[in-house]
Amino acid sequence: MTDFHAELETRLTRYAAIDSQSDDNSPTSPSTDFQWNILRLLESELREIGATDVTLTDYGTVIATIPATAPDAEKLPTIALLAHIDTTPQFNATGVKPRVIRGYNGGPISFPDNPALTLTPEQSPYLATKRGHDIITASGLTLLGGDDKAGVAILMTAARHLLANPEIPHPTLRIAFTPDEEIGRGVHARLPADLDASFAYTFDGGAVGEIEYESFSADGATVTIQGVSIHPGNAKDKLVNAIHLAAKIIQTLPQATLTPETTEDREGFIHATEMTGGSSEMTLKFILRDFELDGLATKGQLLQQVCATVAATEPRAEITCTIKPQYRNMRYWLEKDMTPVDLARTAARSIGIEPVSVPIRGGTDGSRLTEMGIPCPNLFTGMQNIHGPLEWISVQDMGQATQFCLALVQQAATAKT
Ligand SMILES: [Zn+2]
Repeated sequence: MTDFHAELETRLTRYAAIDSQSDDNSPTSPSTDFQWNILRLLESELREIGATDVTLTDYGTVIATIPATAPDAEKLPTIALLAHIDTTPQFNATGVKPRVIRGYNGGPISFPDNPALTLTPEQSPYLATKRGHDIITASGLTLLGGDDKAGVAILMTAARHLLANPEIPHPTLRIAFTPDEEIGRGVHARLPADLDASFAYTFDGGAVGEIEYESFSADGATVTIQGVSIHPGNAKDKLVNAIHLAAKIIQTLPQATLTPETTEDREGFIHATEMTGGSSEMTLKFILRDFELDGLATKGQLLQQVCATVAATEPRAEITCTIKPQYRNMRYWLEKDMTPVDLARTAARSIGIEPVSVPIRGGTDGSRLTEMGIPCPNLFTGMQNIHGPLEWISVQDMGQATQFCLALVQQAATAKT
């Protein structure tokens, strides 16, 4: 059996070296112009390997078809396979220099460009299970961007293999590479129609075996505080300082509970992400997260209550709190029809991998896509320690993810719509 290791290693290191960081503060789509570089590259690589209907949309998503090879394909579901090309704005992602540690010896890993940094199996227990594997990391100054270029490399490898081996039976497959997932803008309004699939999978998960169909439900909140501005020399009994009111709001919100740093598992949180402005006007930004809609609503009400309480102490100020939905737990839809999850579980077991389903304390493109009508669980790629300089991935794990992808599409050739 082909193990795909050399191809996966080449693809991941090549894609990782191309800067494609997204930018939350940019209004454009894609959010950064240079994301087009890797999108155009993938468009031409998909053409080269013989994919059909290769399109780069004006909203920055590459979509292509791998035509069905299974008999009676018209009776089979069309399946979309997705990975995102952007890397997180949370950490330096410019000038990524991927390197491969061949036959990992189980010890600490140092970084050529940052002697202060060490990756150990103690910090990353999963690494302890990868002795003998080929490990890819960045050089110490950047993230690696295996999130989600590992997904891109896995899908490109699987696509190339399927197109070169048409005797492998599978339904119509739609491959899509999206921008701006890390800033929650990966799924454009037109994407569900453009994919035209019965269901989908993102390859954007971690440890081997992960098949995720539960994500957070997420809202974003913006609080604006309008104070009263006046020359401080004549300010007595007139000036209302918006900074003081902003500090009161933060101080009144829970800090020892209900924050990301004090919660885990199925607990939700209110996370203050930004505080900007000056004495006359302040803006505070929050993200609200919970697995259940009533828990999410309670967190929104708490924030609104705190704002109202602080506003009541200073009637001359104006405080507004606007809460907007971001994405919803994909479980609400998937639990009604578990076909995509069951297919993935059967495929994993067929190649000796025990599936594990843990709720994602975050969202994926699949959360939005599921809500918009295309059920979309998230599957493992092997990526670890994402969004920082200690990010790493095992080439052999990516190999297993590729085998899993191939098993999955063959399993789908036996599915009923
Ligand atoms: Zn990701």
